[in-house]
Amino acid sequence: MSRKKRLLIVEDEAAIRTGLVDLFIYHGFEVEWADEGPQGLEKALRGTFDLILLDVMLPGMDGFEICNQIRTQDVDQPIIMLTAKSSDEDIIQGLTLGADDYVAKPFSVTQLVLRVQAVLRRTTMDSSKSIHIQLDDQKRIDVLNLSATIDGQRHTFTKREMEILQYLHAHADRPVSRDELLNKVWGYAKKMNIETRTVDIHIAKLRRKIESDPAHPCCLVTVRGAGYRLIVL
Ligand code: CA
Repeated sequence: MSRKKRLLIVEDEAAIRTGLVDLFIYHGFEVEWADEGPQGLEKALRGTFDLILLDVMLPGMDGFEICNQIRTQDVDQPIIMLTAKSSDEDIIQGLTLGADDYVAKPFSVTQLVLRVQAVLRRTTMDSSKSIHIQLDDQKRIDVLNLSATIDGQRHTFTKREMEILQYLHAHADRPVSRDELLNKVWGYAKKMNIETRTVDIHIAKLRRKIESDPAHPCCLVTVRGAGYRLIVL
């Protein structure tokens, strides 16, 4: 039998927190929670969770800062941010800091559970098929260790970034559209323009890591009108 998935919920509003704890216990998760920022960060950094649900507005330290610190310390646990409003700036800031997804409040419980399950499905995907992605002789990506040596420099990736690279690598014979990336990597269909911007933000982050000149990409290229394509040797 597979072990229970461990979830950390960082949320200061008692009613929402209690609801979420009950909801995920009902769905078979083992749940821990924190009701303020520093405690949430401390628990997150122990690194034993399969996923973190992170509210943005928290006493002591906000969700952006927590997300940033988790990623700075190289903890690759998936993070879903709970944003108070679906403001573009909030979403973009969260994703730029390394969150895997966001859910805007007020959220539908069904939608949230589906997103959590989608993130977990992807992060536990069997990645043994392709352990290294060799872009060219100066660019080697280590899939399992979420790292790469690019032009002699070491970079680390979030799980989400690596999933995008793996998907593009598996389909390197053709361009992949943003909608397809949303469907296959994020696990849900495009609903608003913001969702395709989510893809673009991740592509921009990947280019800063894997391209020698991110402004003129030659590995992760845009195919006008068709999407993105990974050029491999
Ligand atoms: Ca809050």
